[in-house]
Amino acid sequence: MGLLTNRVEKHEIKPGDHIYTYRAVFAYSHHGIFVGGSKVVHFTRVGNASSSNSEVYDENEECPTFPDCGFRHPDSGVVLSCLDCFLRNGSLYCFEYGVTPSVFIAKVRGGTCTTAASDPTDMVIHRAMYLLQNGFGNYDVFQNNCEDFALYCKTGLLTVDRLGVGRSGQASSVIGAPLAALLSSPLKFLVPSPVGMATVTAGMYCVSRYATDIGVRTDVIKVAVEDLAGSVRWENNEGVAAQDAILERQLLR
Ligand SMILES: [Zn+2]
Repeated sequence: MGLLTNRVEKHEIKPGDHIYTYRAVFAYSHHGIFVGGSKVVHFTRVGNASSSNSEVYDENEECPTFPDCGFRHPDSGVVLSCLDCFLRNGSLYCFEYGVTPSVFIAKVRGGTCTTAASDPTDMVIHRAMYLLQNGFGNYDVFQNNCEDFALYCKTGLLTVDRLGVGRSGQASSVIGAPLAALLSSPLKFLVPSPVGMATVTAGMYCVSRYATDIGVRTDVIKVAVEDLAGSVRWENNEGVAAQDAILERQLLR
């Protein structure tokens, strides 16, 4: 794979690879985990299509090749598709893991690689298949998208705010002191200052992108897929308590 593109051919990808394609003439990319057997597990938006840069699951799509293509549980956005349906005639790209910071910064387009290392193949596929059976939460509330899904399957890492911490005043009210302390210092430098925003250059963009890469962030935690999907009821208030329990457990380690 070159510096400017991660374009690959179908025979080059391996089970457990994080793959993506571009939709609507580079308007956005759609990501998934290749699980082998020409199948991809990916996260789509179920229901109303108010957001423009997310994939909406299409009930009426008929697959000519695989009867189980398009399988998902009711109300779950995690879908199993064949590679052809996933690509929709688009080109195939492979997301890179474990890149050096210099390569990461040199990449022209964001969202094509990370400095984070991938977990072993079987663990990646286990997470993808587990979430296919158990769901990956609610897009609207947690701002999960297809790329977050694939990143999580590959690394097991979630940013703390993805578990609800970053949402306004909740950080101080539902999370105890240890996390508040954690958030107060290392995260400050990730927040662009108004001055910085006004004079942003290409270089600064790349550096800030580096600072938000899951591989270098200090606010990421490793969450077992069973904890993520099994014990968390994402959609309701009980879920908040369950998330707190997970967070506390993670932070106390
Ligand atoms: Zn298909």
